[in-house]
Amino acid sequence: MTDVLAVADHRRGELRDVSYELITAGRVLANDTGGDLHVAVISGTVDEFAEKCNREGVDAVHTVEYGEEFDHGVYTQTTVQLADELDPQYVLLPNSVNGLDYAPAVASRLEVPIVTDVVDLESDGETLIATREMYGGKVETTVELGSPAVATVRGAEWPAAEGTGDATIERFDVDIDEDALGATVNGFEEVAGGDVDISDADVLVSVGRGIEEEENLEIIRDLADALDATVSSSRPIVDNGWLPKNRQVGQSGKVVTPDVYIAIGISGAVQHVAGMKGSDTIVAINTNPNAPIMDIADYAIHDDLFDVVPALTEQFQ
Ligand code: FAD
Repeated sequence: MTDVLAVADHRRGELRDVSYELITAGRVLANDTGGDLHVAVISGTVDEFAEKCNREGVDAVHTVEYGEEFDHGVYTQTTVQLADELDPQYVLLPNSVNGLDYAPAVASRLEVPIVTDVVDLESDGETLIATREMYGGKVETTVELGSPAVATVRGAEWPAAEGTGDATIERFDVDIDEDALGATVNGFEEVAGGDVDISDADVLVSVGRGIEEEENLEIIRDLADALDATVSSSRPIVDNGWLPKNRQVGQSGKVVTPDVYIAIGISGAVQHVAGMKGSDTIVAINTNPNAPIMDIADYAIHDDLFDVVPALTEQFQ
């Protein structure tokens, strides 16, 4: 029992980035234990997903054809059956909406301990040492679990696995007890603004309380248009009802890793930074040179956003 099983995450036909990050985390753990890394893709276009998951460091990909989208019962039963068959030391699941939905059920059925929302993982071969953040990232805690164990992995904490691997790709014949599924997903209905997934954007123009009034968001949208970027925000903008919840970056919003993150009138509170610190290049526009965001910015523009933003828009139009 030294292997690691990681279960990929997808939605609406797209494999989510956290799947590749899970592979990296899984490979690190498998190196610690001296075992193999197995990846499972469940439901949807599994053959396509399996090819994508065949990255360097993956030993085997298991495909399970059953339905199209995430389903709690299907994922729980499949992961438990795969674990029974493969006998992994660790099961890694994404700390996504989907992952958090079924991870506790998997741990419970397997009768093993679980740790959620981990930002670092290592194993000495017997004990799983997981790092979690508390109080919005102000404190790190170390949790030690015996083996086997289940862990959910926070997005954007590990680099995405790259390269093409030489994993075996095999179909896993799952035996789903349909009577035990309990609930069935019948379809999806988008809420307003639900078509936008800020975690997929390459460039984010993110606005904070410094914008002062809802009408002023227009200059932010103009800049986003000029840059072909997506608008996101800090929490107060969402709390005010100026942008929908799916635009919020941070601990209680989304974790984003764009190529460029432009923080406009955002102070950089730990709860906000928790959601964007993995961005490749951070640009901050703030009148306060001591705002925490200025410390983590690659380009810190110490000036009034009402002067800088229209000037930038003009440059890029
Ligand atoms: P402020 O902190 O008020 O900062 C506004 C900034 O704008 C200041 O730095 C100011 O100098 C600058 N500014 C003002 N005028 C101008 C101007 N004209 N030109 C340029 N700059 C200007 N927050 C999140 O964002 N996401 C979360 O997910 C989140 N989750 C939370 C969860 C919990 C449990 C808690 C307790 C809090 C959470 N918060 C979250 C809130 C967080 O603590 C901060 O309150 C919030 O991030 C502050 O938002 P802000 O930076 O827009 O506003």
